[in-house]
Amino acid sequence: MKSAEYEVLIIGGGLVGASLACALGEQNLPTALIESVPIEAREQPGYDDRAIALAQGTQRIFNTMGLWKPLAPSVTPIHRIHVSDRGRFGFTRLDREEEGVEALGYVAPILDLGRVLAERMNRLPAVKVICPAQLKGFSQEEQSVEAEVESPEGDLNLSARLLVAADGARSGIRDQLNIPVTRWQYGQSAVITNITPQLPHRNIAYERFTDTGPLAVLPMTDRRCAVVWTVEDRQVEFVMSLDDDEFIARLEDRFGSRLGRLEKVGTRQAFPLQMLRAKEAVRHRLALIGNAAHTLHPIAGQGFNLGIRDVATLTEVIVDAVRQGLDPGEIGVLNRYADWRRSDHLRVVAFTDAIARLFSWQLLPVTLLRDTGMVGLDLLSPAKRLFARLTMGRAGRMPRLSRGMKP
Ligand SMILES: Cc1cc2nc3c(=O)[nH]c(=O)nc-3n(C[C@H](O)[C@H](O)[C@H](O)COP(=O)(O)OP(=O)(O)OC[C@H]3O[C@@H](n4cnc5c(N)ncnc54)[C@H](O)[C@@H]3O)c2cc1C
Repeated sequence: MKSAEYEVLIIGGGLVGASLACALGEQNLPTALIESVPIEAREQPGYDDRAIALAQGTQRIFNTMGLWKPLAPSVTPIHRIHVSDRGRFGFTRLDREEEGVEALGYVAPILDLGRVLAERMNRLPAVKVICPAQLKGFSQEEQSVEAEVESPEGDLNLSARLLVAADGARSGIRDQLNIPVTRWQYGQSAVITNITPQLPHRNIAYERFTDTGPLAVLPMTDRRCAVVWTVEDRQVEFVMSLDDDEFIARLEDRFGSRLGRLEKVGTRQAFPLQMLRAKEAVRHRLALIGNAAHTLHPIAGQGFNLGIRDVATLTEVIVDAVRQGLDPGEIGVLNRYADWRRSDHLRVVAFTDAIARLFSWQLLPVTLLRDTGMVGLDLLSPAKRLFARLTMGRAGRMPRLSRGMKP
């Protein structure tokens, strides 16, 4: 069995784990990343590229890390966000000019994000990517964490001062340590697909609340739009079984005619939705980041944006500790990360959950409340500004990477 020593061992090479490896590698901190899904098993680029909305704060972090330039050709800036309620009067608009920003956010294909992160990790001498490989077990010792990893080249024993769980919503590390979570299911799934509308999207993102659930239509490259349609679990099978023409007809009925007819639709995928928050973000020699720490309803497009702020904060805490000659896996150091992240986690979980619930109810008092709420939001600029700050990822005390400074 081979063995190796690192400063940080990251389990999970999704968008969040890979971003952390890039940030630490840039600081020359010996880092290993373990990912179980082989790179070549990931999808090929095409019409069906999945996309996510990146907040302006995320753009800034990527820019500081030197990752925005290679990503920029694939992203679509959002100039305006239009929020409306199907068949009702309430609507609100956020505008980049009103907010005084170049864009309210950006829509990026996940494959391109993954490619840019993988290329960077492979160029950083301090980062070792071990993929495909699977974490089999680990133990937290006094001075180190010892991990057993299974790979096609044989089993490996890896030692590090800190283990980072970036292993997603179903985190095996979180479960193994019995870290308590707050969790609830929505009884809803997100049906996602790409469409090509007749009219140009003009860089507008639409969030529309319909009787079957919220519907987001995000502008993408090549005249495409990414659709995230929330439907109740009991309707998922039906929606997935519709042929393309029937699906388009239902979508047009829910979305309206703002973009003209929908001319093309891609393959559909369905994701069951839940909200999850780990009650502890750190333990001795362990930190949780990304979906392992918090999994959100996608309605407000906040999941990765929250995760990248975990990355920026944890990087700063680790770098500061190492500079001061401290042990980055020591609980006193890690508590700084947990304390710093707590309010952002709670605020974004509460904000997303409130929106998900408010806009899924069809009871008359609730629809009236949200219609007047939306109109009110449109008129009340401090409330709107707060909404904008949250959706742009700018609320709260920001780590150096979010302020355009190297960690
Ligand atoms: C429909 C939908 C739309 C969304 N839209 C947006 C949006 O617009 N904006 C936004 O910010 N967010 C959005 N999100 C959320 C965003 O996709 C996630 O928050 C983000 O991708 C989570 O990344 P992660 O790296 O934390 O977790 P994951 O992507 O789940 O990565 C975890 C990785 O860990 C690996 N792994 C697990 N266990 C092991 C092990 N034992 N050994 C080795 N590897 C392991 C897995 O293979 C996986 O690659 C959306 C989510 C959904 C479902």
